[in-house]
Amino acid sequence: MEPAAENCSVKVALHVRPLVPDERAQGCRECVAVVPGKPQVQIGGSHSFTFDHVYGSGGSSPSAMYEECVAPLVDGLFQGYNATVLAYGQTGSGKTYTMGTGARDGSESGLIPQVMNTLFHKIETAKHQTEFQLHVSFIEVLNEEVRDLLDSVYVGKSMAINTGKVAVAGKRTIQIRESTSGVITLAGSTEVAVSSLEEMSACLEQGSLSRSTGSTNMNNQSSRSHAIFTITLEQMRKLHSDCPETPDEDMGEEFFSAKLHLVDLAGSERAKRTGSDGLRWKEGIHINKGLLALGNVISALGDEKRRKGSLHVPYRDSKLTRLLQDSLGGNSKTVMIACISPADINADETLNTLKYANRAR
Ligand code: ADP
Ligand code: MG
Repeated sequence: MEPAAENCSVKVALHVRPLVPDERAQGCRECVAVVPGKPQVQIGGSHSFTFDHVYGSGGSSPSAMYEECVAPLVDGLFQGYNATVLAYGQTGSGKTYTMGTGARDGSESGLIPQVMNTLFHKIETAKHQTEFQLHVSFIEVLNEEVRDLLDSVYVGKSMAINTGKVAVAGKRTIQIRESTSGVITLAGSTEVAVSSLEEMSACLEQGSLSRSTGSTNMNNQSSRSHAIFTITLEQMRKLHSDCPETPDEDMGEEFFSAKLHLVDLAGSERAKRTGSDGLRWKEGIHINKGLLALGNVISALGDEKRRKGSLHVPYRDSKLTRLLQDSLGGNSKTVMIACISPADINADETLNTLKYANRAR
């Protein structure tokens, strides 16, 4: 693969969701203000933060998010570049809505459904010259363990979709492996070969249903796990002779493979705020481990010293960063979408999210 035209790029966008009915009912006021005409927000009148883009609440229309932030990554996938899209924020801030990993809401308008639409459209227009093969996997990281969300989707080779049953994430633990060339693979995870939009959507839906949820006092459906939907695109292009006398002469073939990770991160609220103990608390600590490592990796990638090769990028500090290793940094493109609630009751966590996202830039 030829080197990327630009330097390793991490873009950070902010998505400010509207007040939800529950916040309105509690009489919440908005404490986040978008500076008109700028990708900048102010919180509590004192702190201000600038990002690559700001969507919602007086910023750009959220409908522009896909084209501006994600479409370039899908284009890159066709050129053989890995990429990662991360949704970060406290529980209830709109990560699942933004990504489209919800089993019920947002699943039509989220980023993943838009990625899938574009993919199949692009494949349709290029399939005469190129052979395509798509695979998806859907895993979650909970308690520093990787679990398969598609394990029970397939019984033998037949799809067990639309049965109305909620799948339970597989018990098999998945091992993260690294090849000598630095390619990360997940040994033991289900890789589903898909050939249509419907098949890919079915995988997204089933995996979303089987995603682990637990109840804490933050939110009944609080997501404590990182959910990673990965699309792998393989392309095989037959090379033809340029010579007009022998146009059909076989010149061999060209092979590309690249993957796009779409990550709905665990809630970023601190463990102590969940107010629970025992298992939940341990999960909280592990969640922070992944998010902490991710913050360190992304900030190291943006660091001037790393470009001179002297700064260590701490991928090995968590399962999350380990399994995203070949798709964060290097020639890969990364987009982090920080999701926030505008409500004053969430001001502390919102400030934490803005600081985390700011550090990633
Ligand atoms: P998270 O995944 O971060 O916990 P959700 O995506 O589940 O948060 O969003 C929490 C609630 O807010 C849901 O009811 C969702 O429908 C709503 N919501 C989130 N983002 C938006 C948005 N941009 N517009 C309207 N409602 C939203
Ligand atoms: Mg969620």
